[in-house]
Amino acid sequence: MNRFFITLLLTLFFTAFSFGKNIKVIATIFPNYDFARNIGKEKAEVTLLLPPGVEAHSYEPTPRDMVRITTSDILLYTGEDMEPWVHRMSKNLPSSVAVSDISQGIEKIKDGDHKDPHIWTDPVLAMKMADNITAAFIKTDPKNSEYYIENSRIYKNKLIRLHQKIDRELSELDKRDVVFSGHMVFGYFAKRYNLTFTTPYRSFSPDAEPTPRRMAELIKTIKKRGDSYIYFEELIDPKSAKLIARETQTKILLLHGVHNLSKEELKSGKGYIDIMEDNLKNLKRGLKNE
Ligand SMILES: [Zn+2]
Repeated sequence: MNRFFITLLLTLFFTAFSFGKNIKVIATIFPNYDFARNIGKEKAEVTLLLPPGVEAHSYEPTPRDMVRITTSDILLYTGEDMEPWVHRMSKNLPSSVAVSDISQGIEKIKDGDHKDPHIWTDPVLAMKMADNITAAFIKTDPKNSEYYIENSRIYKNKLIRLHQKIDRELSELDKRDVVFSGHMVFGYFAKRYNLTFTTPYRSFSPDAEPTPRRMAELIKTIKKRGDSYIYFEELIDPKSAKLIARETQTKILLLHGVHNLSKEELKSGKGYIDIMEDNLKNLKRGLKNE
């Protein structure tokens, strides 16, 4: 079978699959996907582009993904710092696909020439992302605007409650320093809740290994402070965390960056809010040195 027929079959398959829904939406990473399915509900067929368990920063779309994107109505992405490939390919997409950068209107944290793409780690900024998704849905499917606005209102209320809970429970703790063995994921979260994150990485993506010097400095700091716990990130082998934990006699806990979910997590039906609540539990445990 040549490539044309494969493309045609895939197109027919995805067209048939979406029957009955008003709009077909492709979300690049998990936060976009989860917010979009909560706003689109019965009227949007939302697909997560990232396969389960795949690391989000190094992801590039496959030919099959390109078929899905070109036959969709809306492509939601988090900005050119998170998905640079969307920027590169958007000019080649048919005009029937509305490409929406859901970080619009959000001021990003800068480090030199790089901007921090992890806006969703702050539930307050997640509300702005939800607004941008709602606006994109209404533009493509205006006759259902009331439906999307109402779903968005309900979901944003949940985000407000999440924010208030995190704010209240973390403000009761004296300790504000978190040692995180992953890349720089929690900048916006730290800013919102007045925490300090120390990481051996100097990068907004997990592509570079931490240097031995940074690891040594971190080990010294942990020993001096007498921490009992350090944190590791999702979906990546926590070898730096294990090494630091061994050297410092500390235990490791997960802080989930919510870029993407494992197969098991997706199967369990967990959403952004559940994962952020799990993060809150682990943070409280670690910061109380329990
Ligand atoms: Zn990241």
